[in-house]
Amino acid sequence: MTHYTTLGLAPDASNDAIKAAYKQFALHSHPDRASGSTDTFLRVKRAFDCLSDAGARRAYDASLASARAVTLAETIDEHELEIITVMSLFDGGGGRSIMELDAHGRGHGSGGLDVYARRCRCGDAYEIPRGELAALKATHDECVLECGGCSLKIGVRLAPPGSGSGSSGRGGGGGPEGDLRVA
Ligand SMILES: [Zn+2]
Repeated sequence: MTHYTTLGLAPDASNDAIKAAYKQFALHSHPDRASGSTDTFLRVKRAFDCLSDAGARRAYDASLASARAVTLAETIDEHELEIITVMSLFDGGGGRSIMELDAHGRGHGSGGLDVYARRCRCGDAYEIPRGELAALKATHDECVLECGGCSLKIGVRLAPPGSGSGSSGRGGGGGPEGDLRVA
């Protein structure tokens, strides 16, 4: 959440728009009001303090731009990740095996760790342990995975709970990156 989204503003909002948004949001979120919340009010105030100061705003804009410059190779939906089991190193048997894409494969590999993974174009993979993804899901709507073998990252859109619609065009985006198969 940026100062702009806190105030419901576009990044190129004018000073007047910033002031107007601040008034509206500060009034609504003021802790004295039933609808108020100290956290929100402070966030709104911090956003305004920054954006209403030309110098601070310039610096803030620059920091946003550099954060964006870490471009993601792609953003995929959570369901485009595959669940694999990373076996314990002592397994000796190649390390990994593909699992079915649902929960009843769990426990197959003795001591194996369920991991969501997607192959990177470098040949290595983006991986996140299942539990960690679930934890992220509780707090964010998007997470970023780093490739284990190179500096590429991908964004993963986490489906909000309950909205398991298959409406988004899946199957696109894949191309040569294909499935993660470590047989
Ligand atoms: Zn890579």
